[in-house]
Amino acid sequence: MQQTKGLLIDMDGVIYRENHLLPKAAEFIHHLIETSTPFVFVTNNSAPTPEDLVVKLNHLGINGISARHFYTAAMNTADFLAQNHPCCTAFVMGDAGLTLALQKAGIPNDSIRPTYVVVGEGGMQSTEKLSKAHELIEKGARLVATNPDNWCPVKQEATRPGAGALASFLEASTGQRAYFLGKPNPYMFQRARRLLQRHTDEVMMVGDTMETDIRGAIEVGMQACLVLTGSTRLEDLSNYVYQPTCVLEGVDELLEELRGQGTSSSRLQFLSHHNASAQTRHGAKHPNQRTEIAYPRPRPAMTK
Ligand SMILES: [Mg+2]
Repeated sequence: MQQTKGLLIDMDGVIYRENHLLPKAAEFIHHLIETSTPFVFVTNNSAPTPEDLVVKLNHLGINGISARHFYTAAMNTADFLAQNHPCCTAFVMGDAGLTLALQKAGIPNDSIRPTYVVVGEGGMQSTEKLSKAHELIEKGARLVATNPDNWCPVKQEATRPGAGALASFLEASTGQRAYFLGKPNPYMFQRARRLLQRHTDEVMMVGDTMETDIRGAIEVGMQACLVLTGSTRLEDLSNYVYQPTCVLEGVDELLEELRGQGTSSSRLQFLSHHNASAQTRHGAKHPNQRTEIAYPRPRPAMTK
């Protein structure tokens, strides 16, 4: 952790749950600001704009942040399309966060012969719009989704369909496979890291979800800190081949580490012991993305 010179931070399950800040979350962010530690919030929720997210965190009690502190899956999708296919056009199914990100990247809307059908989070998708997207894909448009999440939490016990589910609908109807941006796609992590102006091995991802936050960070070569305030329990770790660099109870404990008052060595030791025992278990797997999309692990929350 001493090598860490920048942080990528997931939001839901790390900073807040529903509309409540998690313990010491505000102090944690304010400490980063006071110490000039570069950080960016990375979220798979492609519905809000960065400005929307600033307002949300302000309401929750986190101040001193601006739009430049956010990198969403919508922005990641816009960056990817603009870089890989200049002059492309898109038929968009999503909210303002996605439409504005594409507009900012110079990607025009096209409902006649688009290069891409882009599926995002949020918004009411009518049967007519789904039929239109289906028709355009059949005519040759490629299917892209901002993130692979099949569902997203809205309350403690309630979820809503996510972009992954919508993409699955169109995959089934057209026979075309979607390409997913957002976490855990390494492109999401690399682009967010560039905003920090730090090297990959100097950056740590802080997240609560193994399939997105931890997997993506580990695969791209970053440190990955799992916090247990969200969707993952410590006993779940033996189900995964990839493992976080460290496990902490929450950002309150991470704050202590950053202030040099932490005791994470015991936690790290425990993690090491835990991994050793996990290796003796049968069924440890490295699920591919497709498996995760089709059979999401039941859990109370998923990265937004
Ligand atoms: Mg999360």
